[in-house]
Amino acid sequence: MKVTFPHMGNCWPAFKVLCTGVGAEVYLPDPNNVKQLDAGLKHSPEWVCFPFKVTLSNFIEALDEGVDNLVMATDCGPCRFGFYYAVQERILRDLGYDFKMYYLPQGDLLDFKWIKLLKALSEDKSLLNYFRIFRTARLFLMKSQLIQTVEKLEGKIRCYEVNKGDTTHTLNKCIQLIDDANTFNELNKLRKRIKNEFDKIEINKRDNNEILKVGLSGEIQVTLDPFVNHDIKRKLGELGCEVHMNLSLYDWIKHKFHVNFHRKYLEYLNKSQKNIGGLQMDIGGEAFWVMGEYIDYAQRGFDGFVHIYPFTCMPEITAKSILTKWYGNKYFDIPPIFFGFDEHSGEAGLITRLESYVDLLKNKKEKKNNGNGRK
Ligand code: SF4
Repeated sequence: MKVTFPHMGNCWPAFKVLCTGVGAEVYLPDPNNVKQLDAGLKHSPEWVCFPFKVTLSNFIEALDEGVDNLVMATDCGPCRFGFYYAVQERILRDLGYDFKMYYLPQGDLLDFKWIKLLKALSEDKSLLNYFRIFRTARLFLMKSQLIQTVEKLEGKIRCYEVNKGDTTHTLNKCIQLIDDANTFNELNKLRKRIKNEFDKIEINKRDNNEILKVGLSGEIQVTLDPFVNHDIKRKLGELGCEVHMNLSLYDWIKHKFHVNFHRKYLEYLNKSQKNIGGLQMDIGGEAFWVMGEYIDYAQRGFDGFVHIYPFTCMPEITAKSILTKWYGNKYFDIPPIFFGFDEHSGEAGLITRLESYVDLLKNKKEKKNNGNGRK
């Protein structure tokens, strides 16, 4: 059985082990790229969210390569994501492809419906196979956690690197190491190895007053995929920002298993601002937690907050309007900047805006250090 799944940044080693762990062969689509995207754009409704088009492109590439089993995650709302797999399946069938679509309901992972998916992907239907399924799930969690560690280190270290590109090189190396490790023991050892790899990067440590601390958050696919977000994390790092990002596949999985206490704290922060428009419930995407992150970073004295999302993403645009109002009304003293991405997003405009934003943050920080901060 040859299976594929959509690409989402550095998450592929974790998704891959979900399939190989139960004995399925994996076709790994190329990292998202302009050429591949053409097919998704051609066959998607124009108005649909950008991640829909990107994931459809991944599927078309795989189907053209002879893969006939697709895995797609789904949710039960409250936004358009819940319809992705069904609409994509219909589009692909209309295009004449013959395949089987498996969906992974991620609304509540404690309902253990994901076991059914892993069973379906496995050729071994015996009772013993449950052991293999739980082993696979654990490998998946361990890999997701390591990927999170790597991505956090990447964001925090790049702005200090002496040789441009060292952090990106280390990031890619560590992701490959995570893919290569396929036992609990190997993955356990990797924790230390990853730290050592990042420690090897030659850095120029600067004073806290010189460095800009920026929080990065947004819709999950856009935030985690460097092709979709034009590698905004790297760009921010190279402009001298220490980038903090809590969002990761592991963070999302923990949330869906109801053990993500950091997200619960973010929910609390958001809810506690009810009188100024804080959201009281999940409205889709990451909006609920993005707003909590904004408050959290503001309270921790961060210099900036970057919010990214797919152009036309309803929940994130709602969050954007509230955050704009919060900063404008001086409820919080952390300037947010917003980027909506789709196939029309240009590189030059993004760089210009980022450079101006970083200049603004530097100015603001300088004034604050001199005792002339915003009143
Ligand atoms: S979160 Fe935004 S981009 Fe994702 S499906 Fe919902 S509306 Fe679309």
